[in-house]
Amino acid sequence: MSNKSAFVTVDKIKRRGLLFVVSSPSGAGKTTLCNRLLKTDQNLTLSISATTRPIRPGEEDGKDYHFVTEETFVDMRESGQFLESAKVFGNYYGTPRDPVETALSKGQDILFDIDWQGAQQLGETVPTDLVKVFILPPSRDELERRLRNRAQDTDDVVAMRMAKAESEISHWAEYDYAVVNYDIDEAEQLMRCILVAERLKRTRQTGLSDAVSKIIAP
Ligand code: 5GP
Repeated sequence: MSNKSAFVTVDKIKRRGLLFVVSSPSGAGKTTLCNRLLKTDQNLTLSISATTRPIRPGEEDGKDYHFVTEETFVDMRESGQFLESAKVFGNYYGTPRDPVETALSKGQDILFDIDWQGAQQLGETVPTDLVKVFILPPSRDELERRLRNRAQDTDDVVAMRMAKAESEISHWAEYDYAVVNYDIDEAEQLMRCILVAERLKRTRQTGLSDAVSKIIAP
């Protein structure tokens, strides 16, 4: 089955978009999986968060994040411009509201690479549009190996990353789906399966009653 044909079939009937939230500890493969989905799925775009953290080498303002000052961030939050916001590792992050609402009404899906706090808040503001997926590493040893391989860090730094990972993982039960990343290709396919099934949910297919009324003879 080609992935493309599955998505074309799914999108023939008018539907409301969905918010595809992906969380995981770092080292579980989330970024690779999200990038693969975004590259191959025409109907999926990334929600670009605003953040107060400094821009990193290789990042682009407006593409990876909207990099803003703390003052701007607070103004945006106070004037209700965020769907959710959180402080993560000492910096503020927030999801701008307008692009999300526009995309949803056009039937476009949005991918969110946010932590458990953001996922929880979105669950309060847009519960029916939300699909939450948690990516897990296959084992503790494998997670530690992946964190160690990322950079030549000292044992202390690796231990700190493991502690952060454990804290993120402790929220796994708040998610609708869990994908264990034994193999990146397989995990990618599983994420696609979730997207396709969620797009087919009767309640999301707003054009269904029209389509059915054309099938059932008057
Ligand atoms: P980084 O600064 O490394 O890009 O991201 C740090 C953490 O912030 C990650 O766990 C990421 O998922 C989370 N994050 C990024 N954007 C947002 C957002 O808009 N809201 C929330 N709640 N978390 C975010």
